[in-house]
Order: sequence, then structure tokens, then C-alpha cells
Amino acid sequence: MGLTGLQIQKLLPKTNCKECGSNTCLAFAMKLAAKQADLSMCPYASEEAKSVLGAASEPPVKCIELGADKKLRIGEETVLYRHEKTFVNQTLLAININDDENPEIIETTLKRLSEYFIERVGEKLNIELVSLTQKGNDPYKYAALAKKIWEKTKKPLILNSPDKKSILLAAEAVTGSNSILSSATHENATELKNIAARHNHSLAITAETIDELIALAEKLKAEGFNNLLLNFKTYSLAELFQINSIARRMALKNNYKPLGYPFLSYIDPDKTSDELIYLVTGITKYGGICVLSSFDLAQLLPLMSLRQNIYTDPQKPIQVDPKAYPIGEPDENSPVFLTTNFSLTYFMVSSEIENSGISGWLVVPQCEGMSVLTAWAAGKISGAQISKAIKEMNFEEQVKTREIVIPGYVAQISGELEECLPGWKVVIGPQESADIESFVKVKFKK
Ligand code: SF4
Repeated sequence: MGLTGLQIQKLLPKTNCKECGSNTCLAFAMKLAAKQADLSMCPYASEEAKSVLGAASEPPVKCIELGADKKLRIGEETVLYRHEKTFVNQTLLAININDDENPEIIETTLKRLSEYFIERVGEKLNIELVSLTQKGNDPYKYAALAKKIWEKTKKPLILNSPDKKSILLAAEAVTGSNSILSSATHENATELKNIAARHNHSLAITAETIDELIALAEKLKAEGFNNLLLNFKTYSLAELFQINSIARRMALKNNYKPLGYPFLSYIDPDKTSDELIYLVTGITKYGGICVLSSFDLAQLLPLMSLRQNIYTDPQKPIQVDPKAYPIGEPDENSPVFLTTNFSLTYFMVSSEIENSGISGWLVVPQCEGMSVLTAWAAGKISGAQISKAIKEMNFEEQVKTREIVIPGYVAQISGELEECLPGWKVVIGPQESADIESFVKVKFKK
């Protein structure tokens, strides 16, 4: 929890000198509490104020940046449930490779995971990391493979090995990738931390119990290393669910720093036949990184969709740009349809038009990412607004068609739309996109 303005004011010099741009220290403290100012704006802030306020302004879950450009981020969460505000950084997915696998299989896996992506509601979804688990006993072979993976995929790695020398060589070989060393225990934590710090990697830590893990996180933080991930040892689905929930609750509700790090979850496929269920639990229960034991398309697709659904900001629906979209290869005489710019609606309607076997235009006005009925209820889809959008798109100059099919759910705007769009005939289409195909057959394929 952050400090209040009055608590912050007690830490300030109280001279009201105005050099920070505020009239009084109290006014400045209020701005600090609202995160509208930075303590560095007060040249007279004491060391005590800097240390107390610095700690108070840290996010409850540490941000870990990965990859060469550090654009992959995990952590920074502030809420337990998405509907409270939003989740910030989505769970990253990693594919595991064992270093003793057949080199040809490794080669194929690397190619597949590098090329793999799916496009869903206008977003490109892919695999972010590769986990390299050491099963063999040759540190040089392990490090060489790590280097190869990094060079081929340009994805950061999770260097998962119990052997210090292997980690050391591999960490050095992938310097610049901002990867993760996994997983330090009480016995080797200080040495692995030094390796991670030297090569700008993060460090996952593990322990038999949550108390031991807390002690380890505190020790490493006291030694000045804070780029940590927590790898809880759990032995059942219930335990995974429970520990992830407890740890995140402690971090967010109690601002308990030793548990305020992203989680790294490995599911051992030898111990469960339900890897997918574990992965789903990992994603839904605050997973920072979930590692799949192999490249499996049947697992990836539902996991990617689930992750996208959870990590979409509910306050910012996924939208497509407002414009007139060609579906197929329409010409100036092709039918014209209308829908809203909520991505799910757009993709459902456009694919149904496509499936119906005709080419047409799909006019999408700006509806702030709302579905048809919501947009109508919010006054975002009216005759005047649609007519304005069509004029702004210069759409009347693109087509000779003067008939527009509107969703059946907004049949009531047809009169107003005809008034606002002189020369156009408004046709009431089906309510559900699933009925577009049969509608098209009757209307346009006589
Ligand atoms: Fe107070 Fe510092 Fe602002 Fe001066 S600069 S008014 S001391 S907070």
C-alpha cells in the first residue's frame, strides 16, 4: 500500500520553499501520493525520505524485462482480478527442449517454434521463450546448444540446469539475450546470482517450502539482486492453484515484497497426464512464465486464446480501425454491409460474409470497440454517425452500390439512416452473424 499525503509530508523538509513547483510541502506530498510528481523534484529531500518513498513507490510485483531489447515484460501487476482494473503483462509461454534430445528433433522444434504464430482478432500471438533443460552431463555441449538456440530463434532462454558450470558457460554464451537462469537453491544462490548479474540475466529461485523460498528471496535482495522469479515446488494441481494464489495475494494485498516477483512454472509431464490443465491453471493464476514440455499445437492454440482473453484490458476492447473493409474482391457494385469496430464482432461478420461465397464491402464506423447492441445502447451507432463515417471515408465515391445491410439488432435506426444518407436504401440484415450466409443466399444469389 502506498503512503498517504500526510505520511509523506512528515518526511519532507516542511520549509514550503516552492522549488518543487508546489506552493507547500503538503501540496507536493499530495502529488507524490497521487503519483503525479517525483521526489527528485524536491532538491532538499533527505536520504531517509528517498529510501522510504523509493520503497513505497516500487510496484507490488517486480517487473522483469527479458529479450535483447527488453521488450518482453512480466510482473508489474496491481490487482488480483482482472475486472478490478486490468492485468498488465501477459503470461509468457516457453517451449522446453532437453539437451539430450536427438539433434534433428531439436532442429525441427526450433524451426517450428520460431515460425509459429496465430492471428486472432487482429493480434499476432506467438511463443516468447525457449527453455533448455540439461539432462546430459556435458556443460560445453549444453552451452553450445544454448548459443545455437539464441542465435536461431532470438528468443530469450530459460537455462534450466542443476549444474553450476553448465549455467555459467551457457549464461556467458547467450549474453545480451536477457534470459533466465533456473533455478537457484539456498546452496548455489549466491554463485548463480553473481553469474546472472555479470551477464544481465534474471534468476529463478526455488525451495522445498514457501518459507524457505521467502528467506532466499530476502537474502538475494539484501545482497543487492532483485531480478528474481519464484519457482514454487508444487506436487498437485490444488497446490499449484493454492500457492500461486496465496503468494500473489500476499504481494498485492499486504505489499509483501519477498513474494512480489513473477512466477515461473514448470509442469513435469512425467508426473501428470494433464499437462494442459496445469498450464491453464498456471495462466489463470498469475503465471509469469509457463513452460510447455514440448511443442504441441493442440496445447498451444487453446492456451494462446485463453491468455489473450485474460490479458485483454476490459476497459479497452480490442478494436479494428474504422474504415470500409473489402471482403474478397469487391467492386463498385458489390453489396455493402455494416458492423461495429469491436474486433470479435468484425472478425465474425467478415468471416461469415467470406464464407457465404460473395465479395462485398464491410463498413465499420468508430464505435469505441463495442459490440452492436452495446454500441446502440451507448449511442455510438446511429443514422447520423454512420452517415458521417461513410462521408469521412469517401465511401460513396468508391462504390455505385446504394444499398447497405445493417445488423438486425439495430433495425430501429434504418429510418434515420435513410434520412441521413440520401439516395441509400437500408436493408435489415440478420441479428446473428451465423445467419449471414443464408441471408446472402436469399438476397444476393438469386
Ligand atoms: Fe517542500 Fe521540497 Fe517543495 Fe521546498 S521543494 S516546498 S522543501 S517539497
